[in-house]
Amino acid sequence: MEAILLEKIRSAADAKKEKVFQIEKTIWDNPETGYREWKTSAYLQGLYREMDFTPVPAGNIPGFYCDLDTGKPGPMIALIGELDAILCPEHPSADPATGAVHACGHHAQSAALAGAASVLKDPEILERLSGKIRFISVPAEELIEIEYREELRKKGTIRYFGGKVEFLYRGFFDGVSAVVMLHTGGGRKSFSLSPGSLGCLLKKIEFTGKASHAGATPHLGINALYAANMALNAINSIRETFRDEDHIRVHPIITTAPGAVNVIPGRVTMESYVRGATLQAIKAANRQVNRALAGAAASMGASVMISDRPGYMPLDNDRNLYTLSKKIMTSIAGDENVRERGQVDKGSTDMGDISCVIPSIHPSGSGAKGTGHGINYVIDDPYSACLLAAEYLAAAAASLLENNALEALRVSAERKLKFNSFQDYFNAIDSLNADCDAVGYHDDGSITIKLP
Ligand SMILES: [Zn+2]
Ligand SMILES: [Zn+2]
Repeated sequence: MEAILLEKIRSAADAKKEKVFQIEKTIWDNPETGYREWKTSAYLQGLYREMDFTPVPAGNIPGFYCDLDTGKPGPMIALIGELDAILCPEHPSADPATGAVHACGHHAQSAALAGAASVLKDPEILERLSGKIRFISVPAEELIEIEYREELRKKGTIRYFGGKVEFLYRGFFDGVSAVVMLHTGGGRKSFSLSPGSLGCLLKKIEFTGKASHAGATPHLGINALYAANMALNAINSIRETFRDEDHIRVHPIITTAPGAVNVIPGRVTMESYVRGATLQAIKAANRQVNRALAGAAASMGASVMISDRPGYMPLDNDRNLYTLSKKIMTSIAGDENVRERGQVDKGSTDMGDISCVIPSIHPSGSGAKGTGHGINYVIDDPYSACLLAAEYLAAAAASLLENNALEALRVSAERKLKFNSFQDYFNAIDSLNADCDAVGYHDDGSITIKLP
């Protein structure tokens, strides 16, 4: 991009830094988990209104978007900031009532996005651009509190667990040609890029046995905890069959513990992800996991209800947006402070879903210290986490939309997407939904196994 434009962006961002740092602090002090970010969403909408934007709220869930029209024809691009916190009750800054804390740095993303919005509104910058910019504050990136989200789904409040997927479904990404976000990362005054990240499928598992007196009549019981334990062993036993290049990760947890020590546990619930590099690999590993679950239940005479839900699709960062981002990052932080990780990240994000249908980029910034999702995570360098992030976001938008939006049009023309339409993508993820009572017991003594 033109050096003079980047200079203008950087000095406009610098002029807003106190405000941006204050936003970071305010959201840090008010953490809320996914689809509960009402305070955060209201606070940010107020800020955008102060900047003369007209927020369009999602309505029955938190989150909103604001549009900035350059007044000249051209494509629309979107910049994203995430709203939600995670749960880490042991963190010293966790909300004592809920255990929520911004130990993934999404609060800094929201501060950066607001900073970028105020920068791009600057008339001297805006007059050089064409098309539109949509600033989207999305809820619910972290795929947690599944029971709560399942409740929202059953009530019809949401259709999808991931906020970006839900926003896509609601049409908030309609007409968007490219999507840019920057996740907060560790280090100082640096950026990093990767080709993408793993996708995941989400599982809820319920073993049902039969409760009974543990001392007097264990022979009348069926131990659901032992069935779950065998399922964990069976899953561990198939790990060596996973191929390295598929990056399969299965990490089940027991979510409902049995009640009393003198009762044979009659019901145990588990949750798990099956992560992988491609949807095909995830589906194949999931079949193996389901077989392990059903086999474990059958060996005990227990039942197992397997509920599969779409998690997140693998992220494919767009090559043109990658190159453009690398250039901007180098201009902001210097060549030595831009790291290309080369391998896909092993986490999962609903930006993966967006990248299936719209050219997208999800790199990392810096400014955080400690372990992500851990008890020692803090933003110790707000300048990097918020201000440099705002500069990157604003510069990415400006690079795409300067010169009659030449770059945005190129990104769009050369796009390589997994799905040809939003509908094809939704059909693919909807087909992952399954609820299956996997083991059937029959009067003649035979057992049938049915997998989702
Ligand atoms: Zn996270
Ligand atoms: Zn995150």
